[in-house]
Amino acid sequence: MIQTRMTKQRAVILDALRHVTSHPTADEVYSMVRNKLPHISLGTVYRNLEYLSSSGTIRRLERAGQQMRFDGNMAPHQHIRCQGCGMVGDIFPPVELPACTKPNAPGFDVLSVDIEFVGVCHACQEKRQ
Ligand SMILES: [Zn+2]
Ligand SMILES: [Zn+2]
Repeated sequence: MIQTRMTKQRAVILDALRHVTSHPTADEVYSMVRNKLPHISLGTVYRNLEYLSSSGTIRRLERAGQQMRFDGNMAPHQHIRCQGCGMVGDIFPPVELPACTKPNAPGFDVLSVDIEFVGVCHACQEKRQ
């Protein structure tokens, strides 16, 4: 019984994520799904997001000092984060690094690179003027 309910919740959460490009936080996903899942708790939303990202169904955007955000778009792309409001935009196609890029990382076997650009969104640019 519990298993079935979990699956439905997970499907609703995944569907909500795939319909936006805003890279919502767990709190934002929570308010997005509450009309369909009125009894869901923030903790349950969070656990489902954890599950979906660790199973590779969604992407988790983590940066030190920033709230975690989630992305339902698994196509290869990079992100740009607004310095003002924290909004995250997509970069298609991803910027390619030269193949010769080898960081000096003693003690590490380098597996991949996850670039995030920093910028200022239009709304924040207008606020500054
Ligand atoms: Zn902004
Ligand atoms: Zn994205």
